[in-house]
Amino acid sequence: TELDPIIDRLVRPIADWPEPGVTFRDITPLLGDPVAYDAVIDGLVTLAQAAGPVDAVLGIEARGFLFGPSIALRLGVGFVPVRKAGKLPSESLSTSYDLEYGSATMEMHVDAVTAGSRVLVVDDVLATGGTLLAAADLVSQAGATVAGNLVLIELLALGGRARLGDTGCGTLRTY
Ligand code: IMP
Repeated sequence: TELDPIIDRLVRPIADWPEPGVTFRDITPLLGDPVAYDAVIDGLVTLAQAAGPVDAVLGIEARGFLFGPSIALRLGVGFVPVRKAGKLPSESLSTSYDLEYGSATMEMHVDAVTAGSRVLVVDDVLATGGTLLAAADLVSQAGATVAGNLVLIELLALGGRARLGDTGCGTLRTY
C-alpha cells in the first residue's frame, strides 16, 4: 500500500534482539511521528472496515495497546485489553500458549466481551500466530467470535497466517 514507505522508514529492524538470530521490528520510531502514526491508524481502520462490522476491538499487551484503542475509537466501539497473567484486577478468563522456549499465559476479564459479539483482535506483529490464536481462545471462552485479526506487520517466514485459518489477518506490510 501507499503506507509501505512510511513503515519501511519508521519501523526499525534490530538485528539479534532479543536473542541472536532474531531480527526485531521496532515500531517506536513510528510512534514518535504523529503524521505517520495517524496515517497508519487510518490504514488499519480501513482494513478493519473492509472486514465488516465489529462490536469491540481487543488489543494484546503490550504493543496491541498502542494501536487497538485508536482503532476502537474511530470505529465507535469499545476496547478490550488482553493482558499477561496476574495483571487484570477482576475475575478473568485465562489461556496458555507455547513460546519458542516455554509457555505464557494471557488473560481477559470475564465480562469484557458479550457472548455472541464480534471482536476484532489487534497486535503489532504477526510472527508464528501463537499470540493471535491465544487471544482467539479467550474470545471463544467468552462465547464471542473473532471477526478478524489486524496487525501492522506480518513476518512471512514464520508462517503464522496458515495457523489462523479462515479468520485470516489484515496486514499493512509484510517482510
Ligand atoms: P507470534 O505469537 O509468534 O505470532 O508473535 C507475535 C507476538 O510477538 C506479538 O505480540 C508481537 O508483539 C511479538 N513479536 C514477535 N516478533 C516481533 C518483532 O519482530 N517485533 C515486534 N514484536 C514482535
